[in-house]
Amino acid sequence: MAYQQQQHQGYAQQGYGAPPPQVPDQNFLWGVFQRVDKDRSGHISADELQQALSNGTWSPFNPETVRLMIGMFDRQHNGTINFQEFGSLWKYITDWQNTFRSYDRDNSGFIDKNELKTALNSFGYRFSDFFYDMLVRKFDRRGRGDIAFDDFIQCCVVIQTLTSAFRQYDTRMAGQITISYEQFLTMVFSVKS
Ligand code: MG
Ligand code: MG
Repeated sequence: MAYQQQQHQGYAQQGYGAPPPQVPDQNFLWGVFQRVDKDRSGHISADELQQALSNGTWSPFNPETVRLMIGMFDRQHNGTINFQEFGSLWKYITDWQNTFRSYDRDNSGFIDKNELKTALNSFGYRFSDFFYDMLVRKFDRRGRGDIAFDDFIQCCVVIQTLTSAFRQYDTRMAGQITISYEQFLTMVFSVKS
């Protein structure tokens, strides 16, 4: 049994521990959309979304996370979010807020190493202590040993994307792959696109 678990080490086996689905009222969403769309262009740009979001600190919301989220819901691929796309984006952000709050056990407004461990464990990942130290160092932009809301989203999304890229090669689910130099570069670039 222990061997079985070992084989799947590092893999996400379930979703993101999202709360029960809620369907926001269209009028409510339209009100939010109009407040975020400051220049009233009918589209939400990366700048407008960044200004609307808060990471719980006085620093601007991580632009990389904003870019990731717009890329996820921008079905027309024009770099902005229209009202039709906004509903899904809003739900995604709300789900992340609830997830973040539920794993921030001490209500510090930040996710420390142990909280991150609990969160990623519950998403199905199994990592070593050494790897968690590395994750916190990488995504802790304040340098205080914990991770803010925006950086937490980035951390989870990057792990999820890299894991699914890895899995495409790991067809036997062995937790190990052999790939060429170009395959490696292709994998990294496809994540960064
Ligand atoms: Mg606009
Ligand atoms: Mg905390």
